[in-house]
Amino acid sequence: MKPYLFLLSLFAATFMSCSSEEYFVLTGLDSANYIIAHRGDYEQNGYPENSRASFQSALSLDIYGVEFDVRQTKDHVLVICHDKEFDGVTISEATYSEIEKHLLSNGETLPTLEDFLQIYKNSHSKVRLIVELKLCSVSDVVGMIEQYALQESSEYISFNLDYCDQLVNLGYGSKVSYLDGTLTPIEVKERGYAGIDYSVADFTSNPEWIPEAKSLGLKVGVWTVDNTISMLCYIDNQVIVTTNKAWMCARNNTN
Ligand code: MG
Repeated sequence: MKPYLFLLSLFAATFMSCSSEEYFVLTGLDSANYIIAHRGDYEQNGYPENSRASFQSALSLDIYGVEFDVRQTKDHVLVICHDKEFDGVTISEATYSEIEKHLLSNGETLPTLEDFLQIYKNSHSKVRLIVELKLCSVSDVVGMIEQYALQESSEYISFNLDYCDQLVNLGYGSKVSYLDGTLTPIEVKERGYAGIDYSVADFTSNPEWIPEAKSLGLKVGVWTVDNTISMLCYIDNQVIVTTNKAWMCARNNTN
């Protein structure tokens, strides 16, 4: 980015809510291609995170991807939930029928991965599925995505090195990014992963990792960035941004 454009972006980001077109002008990139909706598009409409409504809304945005978290019940049902407990129930220790008695704040039952894949199939959306593996069988998740023939639309992220290694062994190394900033880019490359998807704090401590990863041909992502100026700086460096503000950045969004 040229210095004058960077200053202009600071001014714009400070005093106005940027539309997609403005992001595009400011960064010189089609910035919507660098946006992932964190736990769906929940904030805009007050939906619960990781709900069907939040997921469906994200699929209607013209952005790169929608991120969601996968866990597994005691009876092996793959469900979408960030925390290990849902409404006081430990997901890995309960059956889905037990969990189903508890509702999200909008009245939905806890979504299953299968629910999301069916919604995705019906939507014909081009938004990519960014599947975070929390506590679940990697082969069960991969198997379900294969069953829906959504391998090409799906990418995987995880803090769990063993899960990432399992994906490599299953032939999905080119689809997995590591989330925990404990490995250098070269170490990630050597393990056969596609990329790094690290926190703002990790890149603040190790800014050289962005150009290093790029030079190794790794994908580079950052989480979770809601500040407009920070977003612009990352996007200008062609880093994919996971954000709770995807609706603000989507192409053709007039908010
Ligand atoms: Mg997540």
